[in-house]
Amino acid sequence: MIQLYQPLNFMGMVYREIKQAIIDIEKMFNVLGREAEIKDVPDAKPLVVSAGNVRFEDVRFAYEPARPILKGISFEVPAGKTVAIVGPSGAGKSTISRLLFRLYDISGGRILIDGQDIREVTQASLRASIGMVPQDTVLFNDTIRYNIRYGRWDADDAEVEEAAQLAQIDHFIRMAPKGYETQVGERGLKLSGGEKQRVAIARTVLKAPPILVLDEATSALDTHTEHEIQGALDRVAKNRTSLVIAHRLSTIVGADEIIVLDQGRIAERGTHAQLLAHGGLYASMWNRQREAEAAREKLAKMADTS
Ligand code: ATP
Repeated sequence: MIQLYQPLNFMGMVYREIKQAIIDIEKMFNVLGREAEIKDVPDAKPLVVSAGNVRFEDVRFAYEPARPILKGISFEVPAGKTVAIVGPSGAGKSTISRLLFRLYDISGGRILIDGQDIREVTQASLRASIGMVPQDTVLFNDTIRYNIRYGRWDADDAEVEEAAQLAQIDHFIRMAPKGYETQVGERGLKLSGGEKQRVAIARTVLKAPPILVLDEATSALDTHTEHEIQGALDRVAKNRTSLVIAHRLSTIVGADEIIVLDQGRIAERGTHAQLLAHGGLYASMWNRQREAEAAREKLAKMADTS
């Protein structure tokens, strides 16, 4: 069984990596191509974040006019609370985070932050107020210290290290040959997906934005890494308005509200307990993930003992 599983698992991994590389290239072009099209209105004012309330009102959006992606989405992330968006692949989850960051303009409805329509404020002020922890963090071919300081250029060394501690990446950095001065990238230190995400968390800690958007990595992480990242995120999200785009339901059990997106519409909403009791789409997703995790753990145990 294990002999069969390993090559299959490897093939799956290669497939996922190729697919991810294509998506990354697409994303890069999309961001580069699109950003120029989004312009500040002539009298755009800076966004003023007082409490940090985020509101989507009947939001509609399509990348291509013939294919609507969001078909009237309304929800609120009250100041300081955590709302998670879940749903099947392709439901439009990551699109919601891109729209809040205004990488695209919506075709209907409004997105408001503390009552201000994000189309009416300067993009610079909007993006300064939102800390994005993306699926794939871009690292520069520079030192690890530089890569964390990217979150706030005027942060001093002590602040960089404090942020790394909060993000639970400090220990890993100190073990590297030159500590914080170790080069990252092609010819330097290579970081795993989970480590890169913790660098992104450290950057966000330095930036200290009132609003946090976490687009969780799709790739499966081992339980230990997942716990470390979760711990780091919980600390960053504390008392901040947080929108979490979740692929692993285990990470959002404690969210104040969970929104289940399906084919561009909100199919269900509630707390984890309410949604489980409802026995709908969320409950079946939860059961499927639990079964998959149990099977993975069983295989890992079998591999350990063989
Ligand atoms: P996943 O769980 O797989 O990450 P998701 O729910 O986050 O999925 P989105 O990334 O929001 O899904 O994508 C929603 C739909 O929009 C998908 O069908 C996707 O193919 C499409 N899409 C995403 N980005 C673009 C783009 N730049 N141009 C055209 N279509 C896009």
